[in-house]
Amino acid sequence: MERFNTLMEAAEFSATRCTSWSFATSNDRYDVKGLLVLAETSDSEDPIDEDSFYVVSPAGAIGLCEDGESIDWLLLPNPDAGQTRPEAYTAAPQINFCSKCGNPVTPGARFCGKCGNRL
Ligand SMILES: [Zn+2]
Repeated sequence: MERFNTLMEAAEFSATRCTSWSFATSNDRYDVKGLLVLAETSDSEDPIDEDSFYVVSPAGAIGLCEDGESIDWLLLPNPDAGQTRPEAYTAAPQINFCSKCGNPVTPGARFCGKCGNRL
């Protein structure tokens, strides 16, 4: 799942996946334009702190992750197809490490980005 530092970025990404949203906690509905206005207002008046980020589900739901783990789903795609949304955020696993310096390297990389060791 991708992470976004502003609601505007999350909203623009989500708008590529669905065109109508409902607040998880009320019946307020938003179209794309309404969502972007909401995002702009939220980002300027109530920005999230550095440790927090937004996530977008494959169906277009927008969630807020405040502690890097648990996700608070704020906006659900409308109609909600009942797709499951994870309760927690998991970063893409970083499985490879340089054998020389221990720096994590992207899978498939031929050289370590830190020490240049051939992998
Ligand atoms: Zn290295």
